[in-house]
Amino acid sequence: MSTPIIVGNWKMNGLSADSVDRVKQITTSLATQPVSGVEMVVCPPFTHLSLVHQTLNGSSVALGAQDCHKDDKGAHTGDIAPSMLTDVGATHVILGHSERRRDHGEVDETVREKAVSAAKAGLTPIVCIGETEDQRQSGEAEDTIGWQIKGSLPDGFTGIVAYEPVWAIGTGLAATPDDIKSTVAFIRAELVRQFGDAGKSLRILYGGSVDAGNAASILSIPDVAGALVGGASLKPDAFLSIIRAVP
Ligand code: PEP
Repeated sequence: MSTPIIVGNWKMNGLSADSVDRVKQITTSLATQPVSGVEMVVCPPFTHLSLVHQTLNGSSVALGAQDCHKDDKGAHTGDIAPSMLTDVGATHVILGHSERRRDHGEVDETVREKAVSAAKAGLTPIVCIGETEDQRQSGEAEDTIGWQIKGSLPDGFTGIVAYEPVWAIGTGLAATPDDIKSTVAFIRAELVRQFGDAGKSLRILYGGSVDAGNAASILSIPDVAGALVGGASLKPDAFLSIIRAVP
C-alpha cells in the first residue's frame, strides 16, 4: 500500500508572518503528538517558500509550491522555474489546479509540459483533474476526467493525481463518499489503461471541501491515498485533525 499524503494548498492567502505562524503551530503539535506513516506537505505562496522552509527546519512536513513554469529559465516575466522551487527547499508542486486553468487559461498540454519539467527538476508533481458543475450536470464528468488524464499526464508519470471536482472546491460541498469511490475507480482504470502496471501504484488524492468533520469518511474510501486541502489547511487545528484522521 502506498503512503497516504495530506497536502495543504494555502493559495493566495496571508502574509509571510501568517505562514510562519501557521507552520509553527503545525510543527509544534506534531512534535508533541507525532504522526507516523503519513506524508504531509504545505504549499504556501511563492514569496513565503523560503521563509516557510527555514521555519519547517527539517520537520516531517514537506514544502510544496502551487505552480511552476514549463521552462527552467528564460524570458518569462513573473514566472517561476522548477529549479527555483527546489532551490528554496520545495519537493512537491501542484499543477493544473482548476483555479490556474480558470484564471490563467492553462490547458492539459500546458499542465503536461509543466509535469515533465517539474519531475526533471526532482519535484513530485501533484496534477489536478476534475469536472465542473456543468460537466457533471450534463453527464460529461467521466469523459472530462478521461481527457484530462490523457492530456495532462506525461509518459512515464510518477507523480500524484488529485481528483478535485471543481464544484466542490471552496464550496463546503464535498463530493459524497459514494461519488468519490466510483470516480476514483474510474480514474484508476484510466491510469492503468494509460500506464499499464505503473498506473496501479500512482497515488490518487481527493480534494474539494475536505475538513475536520468529513476527513475520516473520505480518507477511508478504498484507493483514496490522501487529500488536497484548501480552506481547512489555513487553520492549523483543522489541518492537523485531517492529518490525524488518516486511517
Ligand atoms: C483546493 O483548492 O485544492 C481545495 C481542495 O480547496 P478547498 O479544500 O477549500 O475546497
